Amino acid sequence: MNLYSIQAGNFKLDGGAMFGVVPKSLWEKTNPADSNNMIDMSARCMLVEDGGKLILVDTGMGNKQSEKFFSHYKRWGNFDLVKSINAAGFAVDEITDVLLTHLHFDHCGGAVFWDNAKQRYDVQFKNANYWSNENHWNWAAKPNPREKASFLDENLLPIKESGRLSFLKNTSNEFVFSEELGIEVLCVDGHTEKQMIPKVKFKGKELIYCADLIPTAGHIPVPYIMGYDVRPLLTMKEKSIFLEDAFEKECLLFMEHDPNNEIVSLKKTEKGIRFDKSFSLEEL
Ligand SMILES: [Zn+2]
Repeated sequence: MNLYSIQAGNFKLDGGAMFGVVPKSLWEKTNPADSNNMIDMSARCMLVEDGGKLILVDTGMGNKQSEKFFSHYKRWGNFDLVKSINAAGFAVDEITDVLLTHLHFDHCGGAVFWDNAKQRYDVQFKNANYWSNENHWNWAAKPNPREKASFLDENLLPIKESGRLSFLKNTSNEFVFSEELGIEVLCVDGHTEKQMIPKVKFKGKELIYCADLIPTAGHIPVPYIMGYDVRPLLTMKEKSIFLEDAFEKECLLFMEHDPNNEIVSLKKTEKGIRFDKSFSLEEL
């Protein structure tokens, strides 16, 4: 198996929204805010090359939204999904599977692009199956008022119309091996309905793609939960169980939204499970 970090483009979000009820005096130690109170975010996707499969986990927010839309997210840096895939040595048409942890636009937007020649939206990876699960898809297709701004028709409809939308059968709240994908997946319901968290074995270690369960290293302490989560009490419970288990098994955490920490390890302290060390994928 080979793994690649695929940087799809950095952006910024309001620090208060990213840390919910946690006071700024605490979260700004790990995630410093700019003069607009915004913190740096990455969209670090993961590409898994294994046994003839090329699985892309998440896609960033893509490039098709309006200037006005993007103005809220202060994109910065030069990363781009397609360029990053090419730089890793692959063409977009080689991607066999796209696992969308969930359908919030900053995770699935890059799966769909505006085809200027055809004057319509189309899927970016035309040979890939797009993986979600039935509960989450239905949840996103008929969004609640709270998440409505995050689930966009222009992301969901082209995937559905491509005929390549696939649902993971097993949506357990424990890691279960997915026959379809050849990796283990855990489902959690605190951030949104049935977010999918994949785990791979790499160089003798278990590596977990944390998506929005733990978006940055600053979100490792259990109460450090995003204001966006629809069921924060459940996130607390899910994180506690997840962190204990990850610590016991010496798992490493792959950070999607942390521009400064690609992979982190955990340690146990009197206060609970905490950040230990930061690594790059190349250092493993
Ligand atoms: Zn999300």
